[in-house]
Amino acid sequence: MAFFDRTARALFLSELVTGFALTFKYMFKPKVTVNYPFEKGPLSPRFRGEHVLRRYANGEERCIACKLCEAICPAQAITIEAEPREDGSRRTTRYDIDMTKCIYCGFCQEACPVDAIVEGPNFEFSTETREELLYNKEKLLANGERWEAEIAANLAADAPYR
Ligand code: SF4
Ligand code: SF4
Repeated sequence: MAFFDRTARALFLSELVTGFALTFKYMFKPKVTVNYPFEKGPLSPRFRGEHVLRRYANGEERCIACKLCEAICPAQAITIEAEPREDGSRRTTRYDIDMTKCIYCGFCQEACPVDAIVEGPNFEFSTETREELLYNKEKLLANGERWEAEIAANLAADAPYR
């Protein structure tokens, strides 16, 4: 019986026809794939991507060098040095993140009392060398300027749940 069954299926190309029917059926269904990198899927406001250091609207750095982020970081990826300015305010002179150590846990962001260090929406920051993933303060502040609009919108969207 199995022999006749196999022969009949081979003779009438039933598997081929079934395959084409399935293809034809899915031609008219909504596509579930996106044409990355030209199209991207939606991201949660809580997405934890590349780090940024933010500034206030007047250009002043938010970070007050309290070092809570450095203390809480389980990967010990953050290194901060600080000293008081002439006006008595305290600001960092060095803020480094070793992104090769970071595990994107978000603890630094949670610990920060002034929303200075934030994990932004950027996930496209792969590099060809390890050195490029050793971020310094200039790089983090530049990231902040680049992503401020998106980050401010994400923080506002998430604020009712914090
Ligand atoms: S996300 Fe986590 S591991 Fe990465 S720097 Fe922040 S606290 Fe450290
Ligand atoms: S980024 Fe935030 S938690 Fe870290 S030192 Fe600056 S103010 Fe403190």
